[in-house]
Amino acid sequence: MTLDIPALQASQPAAQAFLARGDHPMLLGDQWVGAASGDWMETVDPATGAVLGRFPSAAAVDVDRAVQAARAAFEHGAWPAMTPAQRAKILWRVGELIDQHIDELSQLETLDQGKPLWVGRYAEIPGAAEQFRFFAGQAQRIDGQTIPTSINYQPPGKQVFAYTLKQPVGVVAAIVPWNSPLVLTAMKLAPALAAGCCVVLKPAEDTSLTALRLGELLLQAGLPPGVVNIVTGLGHVVGAALSAHADVDKISFTGSTQVGRAVLAAAGGNLKKVTLELGGKSPVIVMPDADMDLAIPGAANAIFFNSGQVCVAGSRLYVHRAVFDELVNGIANIARGMTLGHGLAAGTQIGPVVSRKQADRINGHVQAALADGARALVGGRQLGPNGTFIEPTVLVDVRPEMACVREEIFGPVVVAMPVDSLEQALALANDSIYGLAASIWTRDLSTAHRAAAQLKTGTVWINSHLMYDASLPIGGVKQSGWGRESGQAAVDNYLETKTVCAVI
Ligand code: NAD
Repeated sequence: MTLDIPALQASQPAAQAFLARGDHPMLLGDQWVGAASGDWMETVDPATGAVLGRFPSAAAVDVDRAVQAARAAFEHGAWPAMTPAQRAKILWRVGELIDQHIDELSQLETLDQGKPLWVGRYAEIPGAAEQFRFFAGQAQRIDGQTIPTSINYQPPGKQVFAYTLKQPVGVVAAIVPWNSPLVLTAMKLAPALAAGCCVVLKPAEDTSLTALRLGELLLQAGLPPGVVNIVTGLGHVVGAALSAHADVDKISFTGSTQVGRAVLAAAGGNLKKVTLELGGKSPVIVMPDADMDLAIPGAANAIFFNSGQVCVAGSRLYVHRAVFDELVNGIANIARGMTLGHGLAAGTQIGPVVSRKQADRINGHVQAALADGARALVGGRQLGPNGTFIEPTVLVDVRPEMACVREEIFGPVVVAMPVDSLEQALALANDSIYGLAASIWTRDLSTAHRAAAQLKTGTVWINSHLMYDASLPIGGVKQSGWGRESGQAAVDNYLETKTVCAVI
């Protein structure tokens, strides 16, 4: 089957003006510059392969300049010394500017990443704005403790007065993947900036455009130059140089488990602080008493939203045998009715995945599963002029040991298995190296909350999947990562605790 994809262009004037520039330099200190080498990389519309523009292909020498700019801003600049209220005001302004530029940013994100426009316009770009507003509030809630001690060897007549200070960790390297570029960037920048840190941001090489536009908005909001620096280029060059850099104090990484391991190894040199938001293979458990009118569209959305390029995508379905056929056929029917198309086209529900390389990877997983005995109830094909579209796919007749059940596919592909009890579902759900998220669909409160306690994941949704908010911590256990983003505690990722103990 062919899939005709029209070469759609940005219609929003500000997005058109941004793209018309062609070359998009990176931000080092107060300068928008190319790489020292003069090398550039192209970024393309994954739906059509059309070139959208170029950005610098940086190397270690550029990373060095960016780290120096961040270090200077941290040691001598205004940002860490500002009052919390001053920092909050600027962060809030960033949120407002993102909202004001929502149509422009959504179109740029769709063209660069492929996602249907509504995903950016109504979920991710507003989500990015909310991150800045939420952490504007948190900037004013950073505090230490006064601590009554039991020390009894102070000089006669003296007392001990002890307290803690919360201080910014220093220069942060933020490394971001391509699936939800702007909101994942905001999830790192907003708490790091609230804490008073200075940052070198490395966007993913497939999707650097909105990060570069955000850089302009950050300066417009009043962020002093050097507080956020943006270095573009290849992961194994720029990301690796940042991970190993001796003057970076902390790495905040979101991406695959494999690269997360490399980041961790490189960070060992100067024992950087590290948080890792990594891959997942999130289970969706459906019990026989579930409300099928909610569970069927909910489980379909859990895997097909953003073409399954979501770290917490519900990619393993464990369905009670009594409702297995009804549930999987319901999802398959939704999949059959979905419109594949250019992300900018009205009515598109499934856009392309981010690149041909990624589409080939997903298709490889699907074909291997079929060769291994799985059956595609629906989907299973790679389509489009550029080969970047993957049909929404439901695989049945799968076994727990198959690669399609164990490995993250990161596309619109779900594997479905029948189970006979909650205990069996929980055992299968927990039989994974990953532990990012899970959902349980049931009308029974005690089933829901018992499952929530027993699922070995960082998040459990009940009768829902993919519910995000700036206030809700997100992150993984097991090989899905270290630490949490979003939520009040995310600022702590970027703070050190200093103990001050005085004899007075
Ligand atoms: P990736 O690991 O290939 O790349 C992520 C980032 O790391 C990119 O900016 C890349 O350029 C950079 N990078 C690549 N090699 C590097 C190296 N050697 N050293 C340092 N940096 C390097 O991941 P991806 O394919 O861009 O994104 C998909 C993955 O991200 C999936 O596994 C997904 O589950 C995960 N993810 C996790 C979360 C979460 O919150 N847990 C959120 C979104 C995506």
